[in-house]
Amino acid sequence: MPDDSAPKTGHEGHAFATRMSHAARPPIRSLGFVNPPVHRGSTVTAPSCQARMDNAKHRFDRVMTYGTQGGPTHYALEDVVAEIEGGTHCTITGTGLAAVAVPLLAFLKAGDRCLMSDSAYGPARSLAEGLMKGWGIETVFFDPCIDAAGLEALWTPNTKVLYLESPGSHTFEVQDVPALTAVAKKHGAVSMIDNTWGIHHFQPFRHGCDVSIQALTKYVGGHSDILLGSVTVNSRDHHLIVRGAASAMGHYASPDDCWLALRGVRTMPLRLAHQEESALIVAEWLAGRPEVLEVRHPALPGAPGHELWKRDFTGACSLFGIVLQPRYTEADAFRFVDSLKLFGIGASWGGYECLALPTNAMLGRAVSAPLPGQAIRLHIGLEEVADIIADLEQGLAKLAG
Ligand SMILES: *Cc1c(COP(=O)(O)O)cnc(C)c1O
Repeated sequence: MPDDSAPKTGHEGHAFATRMSHAARPPIRSLGFVNPPVHRGSTVTAPSCQARMDNAKHRFDRVMTYGTQGGPTHYALEDVVAEIEGGTHCTITGTGLAAVAVPLLAFLKAGDRCLMSDSAYGPARSLAEGLMKGWGIETVFFDPCIDAAGLEALWTPNTKVLYLESPGSHTFEVQDVPALTAVAKKHGAVSMIDNTWGIHHFQPFRHGCDVSIQALTKYVGGHSDILLGSVTVNSRDHHLIVRGAASAMGHYASPDDCWLALRGVRTMPLRLAHQEESALIVAEWLAGRPEVLEVRHPALPGAPGHELWKRDFTGACSLFGIVLQPRYTEADAFRFVDSLKLFGIGASWGGYECLALPTNAMLGRAVSAPLPGQAIRLHIGLEEVADIIADLEQGLAKLAG
């Protein structure tokens, strides 16, 4: 439930682009600069000894006592991300992966059990199967297309966290988030979602999530030049748990990177809209190609969870997958990707440039059906869509030879 400490921005009624233009800026009638400044700092001095002691009690409520608690540049970005996701509080972390790790470690302890979607981001799985397991926290993976009854059947009294990623950023199954979080709620467990793909198109707290994770590295940064993450929650209680854990583990993000993310977010609505449109054109074109068995783009009819996407999302980002016809080998898939001239071969996404990545070898799936052919993940950038399609066309021609 939202509480009284939810930041009021004065832009609640405005469209996304307007809110991203105005969020967390100095007042426009202040005769000041347009953007908040970068505040760097480790030491924060207090006006008196007593004030310092009093301030320490409120260090998770933005009463600054030391640099690791963050400063005004972090807080500005936190307010922007809370605005994007519709939560009350946000904590910025140094990477998206740190934003995955902090809430998992904050809400789980020895003897607890976590139910994690089989489509979850690889390093989240590695954390669960490695460090968390070593600390006595069990993780059970479930099919991302599971329904409420299936999830209920996996539940045990010590299951404390439901971890979702919808759609999965490699296999793109959209999950029935409201149905699954309702099961968790019934059992008093915390529902977390990696909402990096959804950004503002999916409002996690309206669908029963308690914690929303974003890799700001992706579209918020938007230029493939920073790493940042965010953990957003919708109550002060959850905020204190997340902030307390991040602080205990010494998490911190560079204020310079936060400032770059604030710069990125102003143009994000435009970039996102353009890239979404281009990606759909490319996805539809690929769906008509004989070399392609399947296009896994949640906005295309027939994609896994397309009906759920239509129900719960207001749009899509520009990351999707294709599966080649089963007759093609891994070497064929590599030849296709290697031949692309506009697509970098690399991880991460959300920047202004096209990327391609063969993904079969990266899927550590435990319970889901294997993909029926070679999978390639495509990120569509800001290049002209006709040039992108021409490049893919010459690449697919290489598959024949
Ligand atoms: C990239 C990514 C992350 C991690 O972000 P980093 O900033 O690269 O650590 C987490 N989740 C998803 C879905 C991602 O794509």
